[in-house]
Amino acid sequence: MEVGDVTGIYPMLSVEEARGRILARIRPLPAETVRITDALGRVTAADVVADYDIPPHANTAMDGYAVRAADTVGASPDNPVRLRVIADLAAGYVADKEVIPGTAIRIMTGAPIPPGADAVVRFEQTNQDGDYVEIMTEVPAGKEVRPAGEDVRAGETVIPQGTILRPQEIGMLAALGRREVVVTRRPRVGILATGDELVGIDDPLGPGKIRNSNTYSNAAQVQRYGGIPVILGIARDREGEIAGKLRAGLREGVDLLLVSGGVSVGDFDVVKKVLASEGRIEFWRVRMKPGKPLAFGYLSFNGKDVPVIGTPGNPVSTMVSFEMFARPAILSLLGARTLDPVAIWARLADEISEKDSRRHYVRVWLEDREGEYVAHLTGDQGSGILSSMVKADGLAVIPEDWDRADPDTRVRVILLGSVR
Ligand code: AMP
Ligand code: MG
Repeated sequence: MEVGDVTGIYPMLSVEEARGRILARIRPLPAETVRITDALGRVTAADVVADYDIPPHANTAMDGYAVRAADTVGASPDNPVRLRVIADLAAGYVADKEVIPGTAIRIMTGAPIPPGADAVVRFEQTNQDGDYVEIMTEVPAGKEVRPAGEDVRAGETVIPQGTILRPQEIGMLAALGRREVVVTRRPRVGILATGDELVGIDDPLGPGKIRNSNTYSNAAQVQRYGGIPVILGIARDREGEIAGKLRAGLREGVDLLLVSGGVSVGDFDVVKKVLASEGRIEFWRVRMKPGKPLAFGYLSFNGKDVPVIGTPGNPVSTMVSFEMFARPAILSLLGARTLDPVAIWARLADEISEKDSRRHYVRVWLEDREGEYVAHLTGDQGSGILSSMVKADGLAVIPEDWDRADPDTRVRVILLGSVR
């Protein structure tokens, strides 16, 4: 079978179909336990349930005087209520006296509400006078009191399974008394670049050669979304060499393989041949621009099918294909609850013509104008123009059925690098 001639066998899929077929094959990886100081960006593999209330005791939200609200009835600057101050209470200590009618305890933010008291009058509304305090306002019961469990209740699921841990979740884990957290193992993602023209960063740039940038943009994308890049180097456009380097990745225990280049219809586009002969091609070609010649398949290793995503080699195509397919695959291996990036609505600043019936992902930078974002093209949209990505905040989505877009049209913009 001539793989370069299989357009009939492999119908072009929509982005959603392609993504669905990739995700259908992916199961979350096993769990492991890590210290919370190492857990930023990891994904919880189980619900985190509170063992106790936070705060554990009712406490004061303000510096002031703990009182019985009933004692303050009718108090005003002209008609203050005089209470005897019977103790001084700092945060971290418990009162050994009860606030009985006619008395108050001077109290600092965070200190537990003393027995007998049910409200706090803040300093600004009082006047200390020796052993007495003048209360100049009437307060209802509960004033400035933070009840026990106000933040978190014992038994509550505070961080659901599948959460990507951010600084606030790390702080919450500490508040819950957890030194460790159960997270999904990070996926190892093998990255192979293909092309006779490619040389490494330190190699001389000989005639006809260009530098391999895809390996590094892809590796950074893997890291951004929680995976561990396993760099497999550069393979020349020979079936044997590509197959050999992919198998080396399999021996390193990768959970996903990414190959850039060699998936179009050129004379040396042999990645599909490798997939077809060494494993299986599941689909080829997606109705999107850039990134149409995406190939997806498997290689078998130790009785297990390892998914392979073959992205077109142009530096923008590779990165955009990664965002659409490798990103959700990695997040799905991690068991993340939300696979979608953050997307916002913005108004186009520029016109988009030369639109075909694919979905176009247009590189834009965002201007924050009053009340809305304005999306500006980052220049030439050619799929080899990596600087159009460097300048971009996001990808504007131009739907399949539009044949153009005028300035001021509202479009969705996917924020590059975002997770939620
Ligand atoms: P291909 O998909 O192999 O036909 O490659 C398409 C274009 O992307 C060609 O101009 C290649 O030179 C370029 N290209 C392929 N792989 C890389 C890479 N790893 N880094 C930078 N450019 C690449
Ligand atoms: Mg190539």
